[in-house]
Amino acid sequence: MKDKGLVFNIQRYSVHDGGGIRTIVFLKGCPLRCPWCSNPESRKAVQPASWIKNGKEETVGEWRLVNELVDEVMKDDIFYRTSGGGVTLSGGEVLMQADFAAMLLKELSDLGVHTAIETTGCFPVERIKTLMPYLNQVLFDLKIMDSEDSKRVIGADIAVVKANFEYLLTQDDVELIPRIPLIPGYTDSMDNILEIVTYLSSLGVTAVHLLPFHQYGSSKYDYLSWEYTMKDVEPLSKTEIETVQKAFEAHGIVANIDGLE
Ligand code: SF4
Repeated sequence: MKDKGLVFNIQRYSVHDGGGIRTIVFLKGCPLRCPWCSNPESRKAVQPASWIKNGKEETVGEWRLVNELVDEVMKDDIFYRTSGGGVTLSGGEVLMQADFAAMLLKELSDLGVHTAIETTGCFPVERIKTLMPYLNQVLFDLKIMDSEDSKRVIGADIAVVKANFEYLLTQDDVELIPRIPLIPGYTDSMDNILEIVTYLSSLGVTAVHLLPFHQYGSSKYDYLSWEYTMKDVEPLSKTEIETVQKAFEAHGIVANIDGLE
């Protein structure tokens, strides 16, 4: 296990990304390339990046020790306990730093903190297994179900994603929540939504979270001097989101809106 990990943000008092009031620890590194990514600074290797923000060069990502992170997030322990919250590891992709994540989650779990991760599930199942003893909840993204489109657009092998999802479903001690980013032109077609509905329904899943697209990450592409192809894309309307919700509900799956992608 590794006691040092690369963290690019810590967000306190979050009410999304798991139940109750939570601290979200964002780990750097992601092998995917979602065109809508709202944390583009987290992408690529587990290495610090740099960007120019307000005319000043800044480093993105800091190597942090497990014990120092535990001290930091435990400052809000009272909020976790009174709200049913805890700590969520996000990214990037948490499984890029699976050993470090396991060590951090173990410490938190030993202290009685509710733990969660957000993941794309794009890794060999062994990496997920290292985290399992210390995890209460997994927020698992399902994005593009067509295998060729998934590979071409975001670089994800949907067969691996599905295998990991199905493995997690067999783990009774961990709550598994599928999350569907609703991205105009990429994940929101009725074909894709119905593929997700059919897949989840066949596995007996009864609830999902929907994450509507937003533009909050847009300026980060300017800081990185990267092209952002979604700049002029409008968020889905209330009616469009409701149509997606109804598609899930028609198959007995409750679709909650939870946070934003
Ligand atoms: S998986 Fe998440 S962090 Fe990685 S590129 Fe896609 S949206 Fe960005």
